[in-house]
Amino acid sequence: MKIAVLPGDGIGPEIIVQAVRVLRALELKCEIEEAPVGGAAYEAHGHPLPEATLNLAKAADAVLFGAVGDWKYDQLERQFRPEQAILGLRKHLGLFANFRPAICYEQLTHASSLKPELVAGLDILIIRELTGDIYFGQPRGRRQAVDGHFPGTEEAFDTMRYSRPEIERIARVAFEAARVRKQAGGRGKVTSVDKANVLETFQFWKDVVTDVHKAYSDVQLEHLYVDNAAMQLVRAPKSFDVIVTGNMFGDILSDEAAMLTGSIGMLPSASLDSRQKGLYEPSHGSAPDIAGKNVANPLATILSMAMMLRFTLDQPESADRVEAAVRHVLQQGLRTADIWSAGTHKVGTREMGDAVVAAITKTITKKS
Ligand code: NAD
Repeated sequence: MKIAVLPGDGIGPEIIVQAVRVLRALELKCEIEEAPVGGAAYEAHGHPLPEATLNLAKAADAVLFGAVGDWKYDQLERQFRPEQAILGLRKHLGLFANFRPAICYEQLTHASSLKPELVAGLDILIIRELTGDIYFGQPRGRRQAVDGHFPGTEEAFDTMRYSRPEIERIARVAFEAARVRKQAGGRGKVTSVDKANVLETFQFWKDVVTDVHKAYSDVQLEHLYVDNAAMQLVRAPKSFDVIVTGNMFGDILSDEAAMLTGSIGMLPSASLDSRQKGLYEPSHGSAPDIAGKNVANPLATILSMAMMLRFTLDQPESADRVEAAVRHVLQQGLRTADIWSAGTHKVGTREMGDAVVAAITKTITKKS
C-alpha cells in the first residue's frame, strides 16, 4: 500500500501529522511518502501542484490531503493560487465521486445548531458529483447581450450540462453505497436531489437515475427538489440515508449538513475515481486564523484516513479501529476548542492525536 501524504498550508501540516501517527500506530505494511502542495509548493517550486507532487499522487494507491490556502496568496494569478492544486488533482486523478458522511456523535449533539433530538444518532452520506455540472460546462464567460431583458449591456453566463454516462456512474456509486450501508443495518435509501421542475439538465438527471435504479431493486429511491432537500435537511435530517446530487447542489448541501454535526473539524471526506482510488481530506479548509497554535481539531483528518483504509486500501477492520478510538476519546471527555463545552476537558491538536494513538495502541495490545 502506497500512500501519498500532502499536508499543504495553514493547519494542514499540524492535522496531517496526527493522522499519520494514528496510521503508523495501526502497524500496517504501508509506504508513506510526503510532498508539498498548495501555497507551500508554490513557495518551494513556483507552482501549487508541482509535477513531482502530481506524479507521486498518480503513483500512490491513495492520497491523504491536509488543506491548502492562505489569504496572502489571494493576489496571485488564478493558476498559481493554492486552491488550484485541488482542482488539478481531481482532474488528473479522475475523482468524480465525493463522499461526505455527516455523523453526529452522541457526545457532541449539543454542538449542533439544531435541537439535540433532531441530530442525535444522525448518520447520513452525501454523494456529490465532482467533475461536471455548471462548474465545468462550456461555454462560459462575459459578453455583450444580444437578447434577454437588457440587450446591448454586459452579461455573464455559465453552462449547466451532464451527459448520461456521468449521471449513470454517480448514480451507481450512490446505490452501491446505500446497499453496503443496508448490509450494515442502514435503511438502504437513496434520495436523488434535482431541480427537474425548472432545469432540463436535472429532468435528464432524474430520468437517468430512475433508469439506473432498475438494477438496484433492494435499494429505495426517492427524488427531491433541491429547495425542499435544503429544508428537510434542517427540519428532519434523520429522514435521509444516502443523498446523491450534482456538483453545485452537492457543494451547498454538504456544507449545510456539516453544520448539523456541530463542527466542521469533525467531518471527513473522500473523493473517488472509478476504481475506488481516492483522495482523502477533511471537509474544512486551511484555517489560517488558528494555524500553528495547536488548537485545530485533527479528528476530521483522522476520520478521513479511516475512510481511506475502508474505501481504497480494503482494511475495514483497521478503519473500524480508528473510528472506535475517536468515539473513545470523545467518551473520555476530550475536546479541542471547536467542540469544547463546560464539563469537558479542553486539549490541543497534539494531545488529541496522542489520545487517539493511545486508544488504538490499547486495542492492538488487547487483541494480541
Ligand atoms: P476554513 O474551513 O479554513 O475555516 C472556517 C472556520 O472554521 C475558521 O474559523 C476556522 O478556524 C475553523 N476551522 C476549520 N477547520 C478547523 C479545525 N480542524 N479545527 C478547528 N476549527 C477549524 O475556511 P475559510 O476560512 O473559508 O478558508 C481558509 C482557507 O482555506 C482559504 O484560503 C480557502 O480557500 C481554503 N480552503 C481550502 C480547502 C481545501 O483545502 N480543501 C477547503 C476550503 C477552503
